[in-house]
Amino acid sequence: MTRTLHASCHCGAVHIDLPAEAAGILACHCGDCQKMHGNFNAFLAAPVAAIALSGGDALIWYQSSETARRAFCGTCGARVLKEVTDAGRWLISAGLIDGPTGKRIVRNLWEQSKPDWYDLPEVAR
Ligand SMILES: [Zn+2]
Ligand SMILES: [Zn+2]
Repeated sequence: MTRTLHASCHCGAVHIDLPAEAAGILACHCGDCQKMHGNFNAFLAAPVAAIALSGGDALIWYQSSETARRAFCGTCGARVLKEVTDAGRWLISAGLIDGPTGKRIVRNLWEQSKPDWYDLPEVAR
């Protein structure tokens, strides 16, 4: 049986089950992620078809660029996920995962956009 990771927002309205073999954790340092997460965005990526979402009615979707939209919880404001148009997968915020993930940051994205107040997180090999 496939091991699942469980994610939930701060208020508990939104729950997500995703396969433990989801890609990541990836750390995106781009300007969009900085503005929306208040920091870099650490996430896991999985095919939409492999993700079980409950409480999706609580999500508010925001078109964050021409090619991506992001969902946050309308009650607690937790940044839940990002969807790149036609990519067929969701990027789930790593901080929402409950319990140990067994994962490390494996890749940094948009390093050149990183602000000057932190060093790039170490990447596991
Ligand atoms: Zn919430
Ligand atoms: Zn980003």
